[in-house]
Amino acid sequence: MDSPQSSENWGSSGIIPANHPRRESLLIREKLVEALRENILTEHGLIAHGRGECFDYLIGETTTPFAKRSIEISASLLLLAKKPVISVNGNMAALVPEELVKLANEIPAKLEVNLFYRNEKRLKSIKEKLQRAGATEVLGVEDEQVTIPELFSERRRVSKEGIFSSDVVLLALEDGDRTEALVKMGKKVISIDLNPLSRTSIFSTVTIVDNVTRAIPLLLSKVKEMKTWDRESLVNLSKNFNNRENIAIALSYISERITALSADFKGKGKSI
Ligand code: ATP
Repeated sequence: MDSPQSSENWGSSGIIPANHPRRESLLIREKLVEALRENILTEHGLIAHGRGECFDYLIGETTTPFAKRSIEISASLLLLAKKPVISVNGNMAALVPEELVKLANEIPAKLEVNLFYRNEKRLKSIKEKLQRAGATEVLGVEDEQVTIPELFSERRRVSKEGIFSSDVVLLALEDGDRTEALVKMGKKVISIDLNPLSRTSIFSTVTIVDNVTRAIPLLLSKVKEMKTWDRESLVNLSKNFNNRENIAIALSYISERITALSADFKGKGKSI
């Protein structure tokens, strides 16, 4: 990359030009690198993000119509839930902390830090990040923990008052085993995952195939809008939703988009 010419055109690290075509994506990477330094993220979280970026390219880095529908269904499930919980990991805390806190307040839902690579220091860093973003209560750190049946080691610990006793859980960038275990416990699981083929996407009750940076703000505005709906309208909305069909739609969307893009390239350019 060239050296900076003028400081006003450069990102917080001083290396991203204001007119860089992939500026948004690079700024997101900066947030993640910063979160790694703050002990909010692990190196594995960076790798997971890279996998997500690849799928984001495939859907066109935009919220698709089918993702918008999943967001609406998710808003209805969260508003109908008796004990909704938002499960927060390092990537989510790094990318959308304020929006997560606003969403939790709006539903209202509990926030729980829940990590695949669990360690006390990181749990605390994420809790503090959410508190700095305005959260008053964050579960999963000092409160009582219990274990999810069928999972082993640290991966199975959840808050007794939070995920363990919840009926609806919103999560993102989650491990497929844990998603499956939560569904087997009878919970409705809403996942945000850019990869429609991940096990989390497949096992979830509702999968939002979108980037958390776009999906969480959209979910927040849907929840605000739908809060005024009566119960029957909320129930009716999700009645005919089938997540397997939703995954099929996502895959067809990607396949049709790639076919169209491929047609655009055919017959263009010059031979070397
Ligand atoms: P599974 O165990 O469910 O099959 P996995 O092994 O792919 O999933 P991870 O490696 O933890 O699980 O990856 C996390 C998932 O999150 C990936 O499917 C990736 O596409 C997705 N992802 C990464 N970044 C984002 C993001 N910003 N927004 C939404 N999804 C993301």
